[in-house]
Amino acid sequence: MMTSSLRLLKEPNVVVLAAGHGGDAPGAVYKGHQESKEAITIVDYVAKTLKEKGVEVVVVPHELDYVASIEWVNKRYEFGNAWVIEIHRDSAAGLSLDDASRRFGVYYGNSEGSKEIGKFLRDSFKSHGSNEKTWARVHTESPHKRLAWIADTKPLAHLLELGFMEGKNDEEHIIWLAKVATAAIFEAFTGNSF
Ligand SMILES: [Zn+2]
Repeated sequence: MMTSSLRLLKEPNVVVLAAGHGGDAPGAVYKGHQESKEAITIVDYVAKTLKEKGVEVVVVPHELDYVASIEWVNKRYEFGNAWVIEIHRDSAAGLSLDDASRRFGVYYGNSEGSKEIGKFLRDSFKSHGSNEKTWARVHTESPHKRLAWIADTKPLAHLLELGFMEGKNDEEHIIWLAKVATAAIFEAFTGNSF
């Protein structure tokens, strides 16, 4: 049975995943590693694994840029019938390798229901191995002051920051990030333990 305990996740029956940046925008770049490419690897892994667990998942076409991704979502979904999640990697100088590798974050929208989901994801990330500094914040507290993915999409939307580009970037680590994200999304959406 899939019965989320989270109020705003009782109605949606599909998880829509998007990789951050895209089109010609690489996002953060560190020692030759591109955020946009890593986000695609993670999204594809999360989508495949959630589908294997019986969750209906749709992936926004990777060739679309940020603005086109939002238009793509809004043509197809309304508030209440989908949960849309965009996946990013964070970027900051001066963190230890371990902190940069294992600190996750989630941005939520302005409503209490969206915040409740953000905090659930934060706690689930931690229970699956992200570090103690893992956070959940309203999107208006992002460095951009406003995240279009959350503010301009019609359905319920969250944005995940899975570790920092300045942390590990080897394939094993990227798949570990994807596994932790998969577990948290699954637990929030279905109410079941991963
Ligand atoms: Zn990003």
